[in-house]
Amino acid sequence: MNTPATSEASARTVPSACPLDCPDACSLEVTVRDGRVVSVGGSEANPVTAGYICAKVRRFPEHVHGSARIPHPGIRVGKKGEGRFRRASWDEALELVARKMLAVRDTRGGEGILPFSYGGSNGYLSQDTTDARLFFRLGASRLARTVCAAPSATAARGLYGKMTGIPLPDYVHAKLIVLWGVNPSVSGIHLVPYIQEAQKRGAWLVVVDPRRTRMAERADLYLPVRPGTDLPLALSVIRWLFANGRADHAFLAAHATGAEELERRASSWTFERAAEETGLNAAEIERFARLYADSRPAAIRCGWGVERSRSGGSATAAILSLPAIAGKFGVRGGGYTMSNSPAWREIDGMAGAGASAPSTREINMNRLGETLAIRGKDSVDLLFVYNSNALMTAPAQEKVRAGLRREDLFTVVFDPVLTDTARYADVVLPATTFLERRELSRGYGSLVLQDAPAVIEPVGQARPNHEVFGELCRRTGVWREGDLESADELARALLASSGRAGELSARLSGGGVASPIEGASPIQFVDAFPKTSDRKVHLFPADLDAETPSGLYTYLPDPGTAAFPLALISPASDRTISSTLGELHTAAAALEMHPSDAQARGIRDGEAVRVYNTLGEVRCSVRLSTAIKPGVVFLPKGLWSHNTASGTTASALAPDTLADLGGGACFNDARVEVAPASTA
Ligand code: SF4
Repeated sequence: MNTPATSEASARTVPSACPLDCPDACSLEVTVRDGRVVSVGGSEANPVTAGYICAKVRRFPEHVHGSARIPHPGIRVGKKGEGRFRRASWDEALELVARKMLAVRDTRGGEGILPFSYGGSNGYLSQDTTDARLFFRLGASRLARTVCAAPSATAARGLYGKMTGIPLPDYVHAKLIVLWGVNPSVSGIHLVPYIQEAQKRGAWLVVVDPRRTRMAERADLYLPVRPGTDLPLALSVIRWLFANGRADHAFLAAHATGAEELERRASSWTFERAAEETGLNAAEIERFARLYADSRPAAIRCGWGVERSRSGGSATAAILSLPAIAGKFGVRGGGYTMSNSPAWREIDGMAGAGASAPSTREINMNRLGETLAIRGKDSVDLLFVYNSNALMTAPAQEKVRAGLRREDLFTVVFDPVLTDTARYADVVLPATTFLERRELSRGYGSLVLQDAPAVIEPVGQARPNHEVFGELCRRTGVWREGDLESADELARALLASSGRAGELSARLSGGGVASPIEGASPIQFVDAFPKTSDRKVHLFPADLDAETPSGLYTYLPDPGTAAFPLALISPASDRTISSTLGELHTAAAALEMHPSDAQARGIRDGEAVRVYNTLGEVRCSVRLSTAIKPGVVFLPKGLWSHNTASGTTASALAPDTLADLGGGACFNDARVEVAPASTA
């Protein structure tokens, strides 16, 4: 049983682990004084953390003890969106929620209830345990968690059965590193020193990104690709490898299927044709192809920027196929890294649920606004949001807002802080942060599992997720004898599902870390192999071809129009983790724009502008910069309403169309126009 630090005069340091939506999964040292968290820093327990953490989580004490915390349960007294609540006891609030759940189930059917959650915590204990049990047993609609990583996970599963990728420390061994649609300077920062060390040892760095990021500044070759055109770029490299005798046919014969069909689908993508789509020039694409073919070990770090567009699933698949075609596996520092979470496939993430998913309808979270607009027999009448700030993170923000304003929609928001979504709730419930409860979490970059105790008592009346959903199981009458309820019981069940609970528990005790079954440092095709049925790379998986509306590796043209020609991107920033910690960042956001685009529109640096399309409008200031490609504009991901003059963010301009694989979001398909605010 883990015991939180108790009130005391002198400070003490407690081990913890960061479960937030970031690949690095840092091990932490948390200093507690008088029952309050006073500082959060990195420890050495996870070697990748190496004693330091990002500036975002260094501010976590302000999050834990800040004025935005929801102090106690609340019941709405104002209009939806005003964020005015009267104080309620947990008993009153949970009784009301349970009564509403039963009323919806008994009148409209369980599918009238929609649970909505994503990566507010990536911990095993705060998602898919008692929450899943409650919603499964009520027969609620099921949520497809697709706002991020769905196309890339689908591609990685189809090609490799989600093979474990290159461990982050092994990037020091690479002679060529390709950062494709990823910006580790702001997100997943612990990769940066390994890249720098590799560069010191003579490695080449290639960065593919529409924005000249800090890593792009340090690159030997920077490819400022137009958003959504990664697929033509990757296919042109594939075509060249096959056409110029640079494909590793021996590797393909022994370890891959589908190479011929992939070669055929890439065959029309000359460098010249790819240059037209990507906005690059053919010579620099050829330089990239030659560099990649000539380098060994060569590492591709594929990020989540690639998947966020209409052809994003195919683009990710094409990028992940490159190491197989060019024979880059089998050496330390060679291959690819996408998400490393499948390294922990030995743990059944649903082991704590104690219930299986019903055959109810599945709702794609990227269509939340559309879903809430459905009325009549298929309507959602009760929305339960947790681990998510849906209004700020889902596409088509104004559709979501319209849904949340529905008077006949009963909305519950369970969160540590009063988010923009919580302002629309009928009932708000205060959740603990990860420092106020036990959490078991695994990295999806660094290959570690960690078990972090609560370091302080819950702040105010906050309660952990597993406890609140367990209580709702009881109050709705779906509780069953033998249900696991405490964090310790749930953690035991999750570890037991691995088949090596004893070993993992021993390694995790006292703030330690455990490695996955393939070890802390697997080499692809030496220690880690495809988890496909035949242990081969499937370069043209039939199921993926069938899933993509126009066929796998088919490029769909740019959605820009004469009215809305500018591509809006909204990548991660160094301020928030998705939208988590957004309450701490109240500075006004600025749209980044190339001076040539501004001049064409009569816009001056620092001026107030409106960024708009048919879905919505964002009002903010503009910052002119040559770091952004002409034709592209940039607003950071994770903004809150207080960051813009209009209270809207980039999500208001993002379409709710879906990527070609996995039902993923298409944030990078937002096409907009920008005008001085004074012209409206
Ligand atoms: S957000 Fe990432 S870098 Fe920051 S502390 Fe958490 S795991 Fe580490």
